[in-house]
Amino acid sequence: VISIKDLSKSFGNHEVLRKIDIDIEAGEIICIVGSSGSGKSTLLRCINKLERQTSGKILYHDKEVRNVQKDINEYRSRVGMVFQSFNLFNNMTVLQNCMLCTRKVLHISKEEAFNRAITHLKDVGMAPYINAKPSQLSGGQKQRVAIARSLCMNPEVLLFDEPTSALDPEMVGEVLNVMKELAKTGLTMIIVTHEMAFARDVSTRTIFMDSGYVAEDVAPSELFTNPKNPRTREFLSRYL
Ligand code: ATP
Ligand code: MG
Repeated sequence: VISIKDLSKSFGNHEVLRKIDIDIEAGEIICIVGSSGSGKSTLLRCINKLERQTSGKILYHDKEVRNVQKDINEYRSRVGMVFQSFNLFNNMTVLQNCMLCTRKVLHISKEEAFNRAITHLKDVGMAPYINAKPSQLSGGQKQRVAIARSLCMNPEVLLFDEPTSALDPEMVGEVLNVMKELAKTGLTMIIVTHEMAFARDVSTRTIFMDSGYVAEDVAPSELFTNPKNPRTREFLSRYL
C-alpha cells in the first residue's frame, strides 16, 4: 500500500531519519518501537506528509505522493492519523467532531455523515456520548472518539502516534482493546507505541528504530524472543 524509499529527514544539521526503507502491505499491523528521540514521530509525520522529507520518496499504491497540496489532500483522506493528544475540537460535541471532516473534506451528505459517525462511535463504544463535549470525557473516551472520527473517513491506512501515552494507566486497556478489534478488520495500521505486550501480540511486524535508523524490521516473535541487534536487546531489557 505504502512504500517508503530511501527517506531521510534533517532538522538543520541534525539528521533525524536516515535512509528509511519500509514496504507496507495491505492489512499489516506494524508497530514501531524505540527510545525517545529515535525518530518515530518524525517518521510517522513524514508518512502522513505533516513533515516534508529532506530526501527520498513515499509511494502510495506505487505512485509518488508529491509535495503538492492536491496530492497531499487526496492522500490524507486515505491515510489517517490518531495523535497522542486526541486533537478533538473542544467546542464541538462528539457527534459534531465525527461529522466535520467527512462533511468538509469528502462532501458527503449530512445523513451519510451521521450514519458513519454513529456506526464508528458504536465500534468504539462511544455511541451513548454523542452529545457530550470532549471536556466531559475521560482521556480514554476522548481517544476512542478520535479513533471513531478517523474511521469515519473510511481510511485505508491509519497511523497512531503513541495513542495511549497521554492516558492514565487504567484507561490504556480500553483504547488498546479498540485497536485490537480494528486490527481484525483488515485495516492497515502503523502504530508507534511503548506498549510492548500490545506490539508483541497484535503486530504482524515490529520495527525497532535507533538514532534515525530502522535497526530491525521483523516478526514480533523474533524481535521479542531473539533480537539480533544489541541495541534492541538493551532497549527491551528496560521493559522487563
Ligand atoms: P518520543 O518517544 O520521545 O516521542 P520520537 O522517537 O518520536 O521520540 P521524534 O519526535 O521523531 O522522536 O524526534 C527525533 C529527533 O528530532 C529529536 O532529537 C527531536 O528533538 C528532533 N525533532 C523533532 N521535531 C523537530 C522539529 N520540528 N525541529 C527540530 N528538531 C526536531
Ligand atoms: Mg514521538
